[in-house]
Amino acid sequence: MSLNASCLFCRIIKGEIPSYKVFESSKVYAFLDINPLSEGHTLVIPKYHGAKLHEIPDDYLSDIIPAAKKIALALGATPDDAFQYNILQNNGTMAHQVVQHVHFHVIPKPTEAEGLG
Ligand code: 5GP
Ligand code: ZN
Repeated sequence: MSLNASCLFCRIIKGEIPSYKVFESSKVYAFLDINPLSEGHTLVIPKYHGAKLHEIPDDYLSDIIPAAKKIALALGATPDDAFQYNILQNNGTMAHQVVQHVHFHVIPKPTEAEGLG
C-alpha cells in the first residue's frame, strides 16, 4: 500500500473520508460513487496512489478486474444478459478524469423500464 496524504481517494481508503464500501482486499478498495450515473455505480481503486493507469504496479492492477467482476456479479450479472453494464477508466483531464487517483467505474445500465434506458 502506497498512499498520498492529500489525495481524496487515498483518504477514502484510509477511512478519513466516509464512503459506502462495496468490496475490499489487500490491494483494492471499491465504493459507491457519490454522484451515481445509475443505481449501483461503483468505483474500484488500487490501494496505491497514482493518477494514471501506467503509474500503477501490475500486482495492484491485476486485482482490479477480478474485483470489478465480483461487483458485477453482486449487482446481478448472470449469463442470461439481463443485467448489463459499462466498465470505464479515464486517464487525464482531457480524457474526463476529475479525481487524480486511478479508478475504474462499474456502471450498471438501467433498463428502459427503470427510466434511464
Ligand atoms: P472521473 O471523472 O475522474 O473518472 O470520475 C470521478 C468520480 O468520482 C465521479 O463519478 C465522482 O462522482 C466520484 N467522486 C468524486 N468525489 C467523490 C467522493 O468524495 N466520494 C465518492 N464516493 N465518489 C466521489
Ligand atoms: Zn490517491
